Amino acid sequence: MKRLVILGAGTAGTMMANHLSHELDKEEWEIDIIDEREEHYYQPGYLFLPFDIYEPQDIVESIREFIPKGVRLLNDKIEKVDAEKNLVLMENGDRLHYDVLIIATGAKIAPKEVQGMKGDEWHRSVFDFYTFEGALMLRNKLREWEGGKLVVHITEMPIKCPVAPLEFSFLADSYFKHKKMRDKVEITYVTPLSGAFTKPKATAALDHLLHEKNIKVETDFAIAEVDNENKKIIDNIKTFL
Ligand SMILES: Cc1cc2nc3c(=O)[nH]c(=O)nc-3n(C[C@H](O)[C@H](O)[C@H](O)COP(=O)(O)OP(=O)(O)OC[C@H]3O[C@@H](n4cnc5c(N)ncnc54)[C@H](O)[C@@H]3O)c2cc1C
Repeated sequence: MKRLVILGAGTAGTMMANHLSHELDKEEWEIDIIDEREEHYYQPGYLFLPFDIYEPQDIVESIREFIPKGVRLLNDKIEKVDAEKNLVLMENGDRLHYDVLIIATGAKIAPKEVQGMKGDEWHRSVFDFYTFEGALMLRNKLREWEGGKLVVHITEMPIKCPVAPLEFSFLADSYFKHKKMRDKVEITYVTPLSGAFTKPKATAALDHLLHEKNIKVETDFAIAEVDNENKKIIDNIKTFL
């Protein structure tokens, strides 16, 4: 018997498990999928959590729900891969031999890489919405926020979903309008790119929308630091608050 091992039961790993369980001969192949989590998180839903459009239960489901019959799900943290010996090593010391390996462990945000980002203001006035925890903390903050400056800032490209920060800005505009406090919030979209989006035609259309919704745009902003004391983001030549 040959063994196919899939690392990560997120969107990619789950899709591979479902496709390959139909494609591979069951007499010849066994399929294992490994994830440290027990729940699957629907990441596009992180956009809607801060604005009370989705509840946590709308985007979290047991991983088991999506794993097809005949595929073995292992709930372990993967420590490393020994490619010379065809072995996956788990944090708990277990080892798993593979004939074919698919790596689908996804991408994680790295706020620590920007000076000051994970400082005193982390999850107080500085948030991410690219993690479940970040989106939830931001929801709690926005529920009680009385207005001020909202900066939607992209640290650097590439990011998982390049359009999500723009969608976030438009959702924020709509959310504050519904709460009848749009006039109390100044929204600014800050990007390291030279325009609102990666492609020129889309940038032109989106610029128009941003303007219409009174969302300011700050381009070519390469962040150097988050100044927690003064609640500012600083690049090498400009400061933004
Ligand atoms: C806010 C937001 C909006 C988005 N909107 C869209 C959209 O509209 N359309 C679209 O196509 N995409 C969108 N995306 C992107 C999409 O969600 C991701 O591209 C997709 O989830 C990536 O799937 P993945 O399987 O590669 O990684 P993930 O779904 O992140 O899965 C990786 C899995 O690996 C596991 N793992 C990682 N390391 C280990 C380890 N050491 N041990 C054990 N397990 C481990 C994790 O627990 C996780 O379950 C969005 C993303 C975000 C954040």
